[in-house]
Amino acid sequence: MASTANSNIVEFHNVRKLYGELEVLKGVSFSVPKGSVVALIGRSGSGKSTALRCVNGLEAIQGGELHVCGRRLHEPNVDLRALRKDVGIVFQSYNLFPHKTVEENITLSPRLTKRLSKAHAREIAERVLAEVGLSDKAKSYPEQLSGGQQQRVAIARSLAMEPELMLFDEVTSALDPELTGEVLKTIESLAKAGMTMILVTHEMSFAKRVANQIIFMHQGVIWETGDGTMFDAPRTPELRNFVSNGL
Ligand code: ADP
Ligand code: MG
Repeated sequence: MASTANSNIVEFHNVRKLYGELEVLKGVSFSVPKGSVVALIGRSGSGKSTALRCVNGLEAIQGGELHVCGRRLHEPNVDLRALRKDVGIVFQSYNLFPHKTVEENITLSPRLTKRLSKAHAREIAERVLAEVGLSDKAKSYPEQLSGGQQQRVAIARSLAMEPELMLFDEVTSALDPELTGEVLKTIESLAKAGMTMILVTHEMSFAKRVANQIIFMHQGVIWETGDGTMFDAPRTPELRNFVSNGL
């Protein structure tokens, strides 16, 4: 990756994002130190996904500064391909290739974009499958796996690119409740292993347990932020309402 002057993997400085006339991020500032976990929570439409999409360059910003993995995304001519090698993103829908095995799904991207040998890519697949607890599923096809296992494969696929930073956008929202636990456990173990991450989640007890910083987004701004204790004593009616409806 490009060199960083400090240990923050991500820095938002008064970031503004507009879709036409609609201002979706209205001056957002926070940073993500290396090895830390930031959780974004908030009602639907508050700007959480947009913030994540800006981090890996899926969306350009219209104001402020955004530093990610030593790159200045607010400046022109950002190397988006290089950025996306450093930043993994996992969504609610995992979109595995149905006609490829788990191992093939995982090795595809490293082989194409990093031109790794088959043997090297396999080695990586073996390692990342172990990290998500699916070592025995390398030769399985997605349809032979549960939704939770498929989402863990999607996480492994992202890890295979050896990212500096992982983004998770409501990765358990499409899963049956009994399957969310295994996915959250996987993310928690990655966090414990020192992976830097930003996660958007509805699972507030999970956010409380895993995140170093929780950010409550409301109408495109950081409305409240703190550690897990902020749920016990919300300072604003908006967070109080959110907590009492969501927990
Ligand atoms: P959240 O993830 O918190 O639910 P989003 O970041 O998805 O919120 O959306 C924030 C706001 O931006 C919403 O009002 C949404 O309708 C709007 N929005 C998101 N994506 C687009 C887009 N591609 N074009 C126009 N408006 C968008
Ligand atoms: Mg969203």
